[in-house]
Amino acid sequence: MYVVMIASECAPVAKVGGLADVVFGLSRELELRGNAVEIVLPKYDCMRHDQVWGLQVAWRDLAVPWDGGAVTCTVWFGFVHGRKCYFVEPHSEHAYFSRGAYYGFPDEAWRFAFFSKAALEFLLKAGKRPAVIHTHDWQTALVPVLLYEIYAGAGMADVRVCHTMHNFRHQGVAGPEILRATGLERPGHFCAPDRMGDIESVGVNYTRGAILYANFVTTVSPHHAWEVRHTDLGCGLGHSLHQHQRKFGGILNGLDYEMWNPEIDPHIPERYGPATLDGKAANTRALRERLLLRHGPRPIVAYVGRLDTQKGLHLIRHAIFFATANDAQFVLLGAGSEPGINEDFWQLKRMLNDSPDCHLEIGYDEELAHLIYAGADLLVMPSLYEPCGLTQMIALRYGTVPVVRAVGGLADTVFDWDHSPLPREQRNGFVFEHPDHAGVESALRRALGLWRNEPELFRELAKQGMAYDYSWNDPGGRYLDVYEFIRHK
Ligand code: ADP
Repeated sequence: MYVVMIASECAPVAKVGGLADVVFGLSRELELRGNAVEIVLPKYDCMRHDQVWGLQVAWRDLAVPWDGGAVTCTVWFGFVHGRKCYFVEPHSEHAYFSRGAYYGFPDEAWRFAFFSKAALEFLLKAGKRPAVIHTHDWQTALVPVLLYEIYAGAGMADVRVCHTMHNFRHQGVAGPEILRATGLERPGHFCAPDRMGDIESVGVNYTRGAILYANFVTTVSPHHAWEVRHTDLGCGLGHSLHQHQRKFGGILNGLDYEMWNPEIDPHIPERYGPATLDGKAANTRALRERLLLRHGPRPIVAYVGRLDTQKGLHLIRHAIFFATANDAQFVLLGAGSEPGINEDFWQLKRMLNDSPDCHLEIGYDEELAHLIYAGADLLVMPSLYEPCGLTQMIALRYGTVPVVRAVGGLADTVFDWDHSPLPREQRNGFVFEHPDHAGVESALRRALGLWRNEPELFRELAKQGMAYDYSWNDPGGRYLDVYEFIRHK
């Protein structure tokens, strides 16, 4: 099958978060199964050009109809670790993708509406007719709308769209003027509440458009698919999702099992697997030496991830104090996008600076992340919401036992050692329900207790986690089923 991904990120060339990993990982899995996949991305000036091979011009002077005129674009082609990628570079005074950062501009909704339009214009003019276009998040949510309202009539009527929501909190809202700019026109029609009208403004809600127009909509875990329809985690879209629930479902993200594999990981001093779990001890030693923690018979609890309210920051903070007060060590690696949050954690770091049992690393460090997953005993993830979460899957792969709150993808991937209805040999971590101190303490207390009092059982638990397969193998098949289903509709 010929599939085109249209997205705002793809690892490692243009990565901000998990979305980038999914676009790359799913594309690779689809290709391994014999499908042809191409990825269309903006050509950001700040992207990692060193991760693109053979970059060359694929289409010069692509005139994209825009705002009553046209914007000329150059479309580039290059390989990103084997994936075929097209990069759209607009030439206009707005310099949409030449601003030194991926996101964070006041005209965000216009930038990505333009990208969506340009990507379709490129497919049309280049004669590309994929069976399925797969779009991701609000940035490309207008693609299904534009496809059916404009491009179907221009020769793309057989193309189907699957849209995946990675985060419902960001939906893409612009004023009605965007309808003129994109050529959709008819604000009275499109801004109606049962079409693309935003419930909080008089604007156009791109994600509402995708839910209405895409042939299938997914989110990144089955449990989150339930949450967004039945709780406030749908962020105002629950009703639309209910109306279209026959074409909505959750598919768990996969993990790149080549990049995350303790048996071949080049970033860790001692490689190990389920049969050689003792090798973890050398990584624990290396982690302690690198972060100046004291050696000794106490477990290391870790947190790796963005420092965002979504992640349950007050509970992470509490876990630090709880762990260190209970003869465990704590290691944190994270960076916040908001200055206030970073400052809070810097303050905490200064406060704990002299502790031989605690280290906070504020920043982004891919290599240290690998060492933490390999060297820690437990990984805590007390998220307030978590559409899927990759971190707990990485921890499982590295024999590091996850301690998580039962939300979103965490509830689909971590099964409590004491209370899960699954047979004991299928349990793989510790889970708590309530996002409060008592909740996180109850799970951590049980985890630390097992580590200390029943080391053999703790080891079994770690091994059981390693036995889980959270690679792209299963989700790749599920996405192909969705594509097959919609292509014959
Ligand atoms: P989200 O997509 O919400 O950021 P995920 O759990 O899905 O969370 O993915 C997080 C990914 O980013 C993981 O691969 C994690 O190792 C990585 N990561 C997050 N913060 C950092 C950091 N400060 N340094 C290194 N890697 C990080």
